[in-house]
Amino acid sequence: MAAEQVGRSVVVTGAASPRGIGRATATLLARRGWGVGILDIDEARGRELAAELAESYHVPSRSVTADVSDEEQVRAAIDALEASLPPIGGLANLAGVSSPVGYLELTSAEWHRVININLNGVHYVTRRVAETMAKNRFGRIVSVSSVSAQRGGGTYSKTPYTVAKAGLIGLTRSLARELGSYGITVNAVAPGPIDTDIMGGPLTPERKADLAKDLVVNRVGVPQDVAAAIAFLLSDEAGYISGQTLNVDGGLYMH
Ligand code: NAD
Repeated sequence: MAAEQVGRSVVVTGAASPRGIGRATATLLARRGWGVGILDIDEARGRELAAELAESYHVPSRSVTADVSDEEQVRAAIDALEASLPPIGGLANLAGVSSPVGYLELTSAEWHRVININLNGVHYVTRRVAETMAKNRFGRIVSVSSVSAQRGGGTYSKTPYTVAKAGLIGLTRSLARELGSYGITVNAVAPGPIDTDIMGGPLTPERKADLAKDLVVNRVGVPQDVAAAIAFLLSDEAGYISGQTLNVDGGLYMH
């Protein structure tokens, strides 16, 4: 079905993973008529997804390959997307890695790997895209934090992940304040357990039941649950919401 064109593009990082939240987000946004720029470290799958979105939804779609923790690669990748897509009006930061290593076993290399990808990577992409948005006086930025930031872990991934995801909430609030006068909103979503492969591979039925025990909604989430929240925060209708963290966690964390 042909999508209604919105005349803008959204950059979605971390969209290549076949069962991931990024892919569900890129697909929903294409369905809603956004041009889609995919930035992922997985070249082949990123390219396949861009082709699929263009074919299924008749929107401009491109993919670029970059490691988000390398600022030079990120800047070159966004330059390339900008040169081949309608103006960038949205950014969804989803690229991330898990890290199940306990604190007393943690090496310095693992600490830096996780912070570099999950926190610095979001900053590098956001900084570059914000330059364009500020020039155009319009933008919607959404970063994916985690319930682990709010509950002090308690999920598959441990401390460096929690620290990076908590850092994203601070980044979101501070950028909402600094960029608001440019017509840019900045928000985060904080998912609870979502059925993807990031927690060490596909979830077994037993693991899903165990993860659902603490939730008020009687199931683990699916990528589309998070995609819907991101798409809302990227929409024109969400223009009066900024600096917020929207929990998409089946009621795991209430405050
Ligand atoms: P996933 O592993 O399916 O997808 C992660 C994507 O990020 C992949 O496409 C991967 O290629 C890409 N990526 C990884 N390292 C990269 C790098 N250095 N540079 C560029 N791309 C890179 O995971 P997912 O579950 O879809 O997670 C998406 C986001 O949601 C992550 O930030 C994750 O921390 C967050 N999140 C997930 C859950 C969950 O339960 N699944 C819960 C809370 C938050």
